[in-house]
Formats: sequence, C-alpha cells, structure tokens
Amino acid sequence: MTDQLQDEGLEYPPGCAYVRGRYAPMAEAKISVLDWGFLRSDATYDVAHCIDGRFFRLDAHIERFYRSAEKLRLEIPVDPEACAEIMRECVRRGGVAEAGYVECLVTRGVSPTFSRDPRDAIPTFMVFAIPLGRILPLDRWEEGLHVHVSTIHRIPPESVDPTAKNYHWHDLVQGLYAAYDAGAENVVLTDPAGNICEGPGFNVFMVKDGRIATPDRGVLEGVSRDTAMRLARELQIPVEARAVSAQEFRAADEAFITSTAGGIMPITKSDHAPIGDGRPGPITRRLSERYWE
Ligand code: PLP
Repeated sequence: MTDQLQDEGLEYPPGCAYVRGRYAPMAEAKISVLDWGFLRSDATYDVAHCIDGRFFRLDAHIERFYRSAEKLRLEIPVDPEACAEIMRECVRRGGVAEAGYVECLVTRGVSPTFSRDPRDAIPTFMVFAIPLGRILPLDRWEEGLHVHVSTIHRIPPESVDPTAKNYHWHDLVQGLYAAYDAGAENVVLTDPAGNICEGPGFNVFMVKDGRIATPDRGVLEGVSRDTAMRLARELQIPVEARAVSAQEFRAADEAFITSTAGGIMPITKSDHAPIGDGRPGPITRRLSERYWE
C-alpha cells in the first residue's frame, strides 16, 4: 500500500529486474536508502546489449564486471555463469530480446548497524533488462552528434580508476549541462593536460590521414572500443591508443564514439564547427557496418 502511494505518478520502462534473489517488474527494482551504492556511489556495474535475441560479447562484459568488482574490493554474491544466466532470464521475462539494455550491478550494500566500516556491509546484487536506448538514435545517424569539448576534467585516474566501471558521474553529468548551455547535445571531457578523455557512457575516436586514434588514459576500456579497434585492424586501418589533444580532435577528418548504447556513432560537429566535412566519414561508416555485421 505504502509503495503504491509513493509510486503514484511514477512510471518505469518495461522490462524485468532481478532483486534480492527474485525476478520482478522494474517498478519493484529498489535498494535501501542506507545502501552504500546510493549514499557513497560505492558500486560497480556493467551493461551489455542484446539485439534479436543475441547478446553482444556477453563474456567480455561479465569478465569486466568481475574484474571491476575485484579492483574495488566488492564481492559479487553469484558466480559469472549464474550472473550471465540471470541476465538472459531478465531479457526473456522482460520481453526485450529484440533490443535490450541489460545491466548487472553490485553495491557495497547495507550494514545492519550503519557502521562506517565498508567491510561490515552486505553486498547488493541486481540485474535488469529494459529496452535499449541509443546515444544517437538510428534515425539521426547520418546527421551525427554535436559535441561540446568541455573544460570540465574527467575524474583523474589516480582518484577513481576509470577502468573499473563506476557511478562517479558528477563530471559527466555537469559536462552534459555545460554542453546544453553551449548549444551542443553531448559532451567530451578533457584532462588537465588538454587531452580528450571520454563522455557519458562512451569512448571517443578520431581519424586523421587514414589513421585512427583513441585516448589511452583516463577512460573506461569499453567493450565497443575494443571491438572498434579489432575491426580497424581487421580492415588494415592503423589504429592506436594514445594521448589525443582537444586541438587535434577538433582538426580531425572524422570522429566517432563507441558504446554498448548504440555501437559506433559519428561525431560531425564540435562546438558548432564541423568535424571534417560535417558528415559521417568513410572510416566511421565502414567500422559501423562491420560492427553490426
Ligand atoms: N566510458 C564510460 C564512462 C562508460 O560508462 C561507458 C559505457 O557505459 C563507455 C565508456 C563505453 O563502454 P562500452 O563500450 O563497454 O559500453
């Protein structure tokens, strides 16, 4: 009754969640207000997508999830096989097999005494599957993304290891607001040396004179980033992970982002100036085609 009253007027996407050992509709996927995941962003997660009933590189996502948890000393209360099976089951029950966004997460959890010692907390593990949303909707792919290169710095890797997927998103979300203020639709954060890092939920690539580059530091090692690099090598296009200055990025022939939420998507404008000729470039196009193949 109380839950119903509190939820009046709130809507949730369709899908299915796995919470406290049982499957439930998204409206019931909740955590305690005392959970360290909520109060301290003390959590890790991973997101895979499935299209037409098939997951894209689920093993790579599960591997990264367990690696992230280990780095953060978080304990996942199920083994990787069970986690994968729960993700599959959420997709089946949630009816999102056609295009699903499937997230598994673990938080430090709740300590029964609200102790300040993280070791006293009992971890919270959850999975949910909802319809896949793309950073750049398919019908806007040809137009491409307009990004703002922000002076907001991505949280330094010395403070929070970006290779352990995390919810430290203040920089990314404030970056998004800075982008909206600047009349752009998305943001690329930088580091104190003036190099580009990444954006909210995506890695960034640039192409100059037929060579591809992507930042090597201060970023999540995205599964789609790795896929784009593998595909480039397969197509014999030189690709390297290295420092990419904001200046170099703006002067690129092509630029694109990679993410589970949409694959390979072109950037065609940076702070109102075109990247290259202002249209998705040929290398971006080839990589995206191969990605979906
Ligand atoms: N960078 C950040 C900060 C992310 O949160 C994500 C994905 O959510 C990515 C990059 C892209 O990673 P992936 O290709 O594994 O989806």
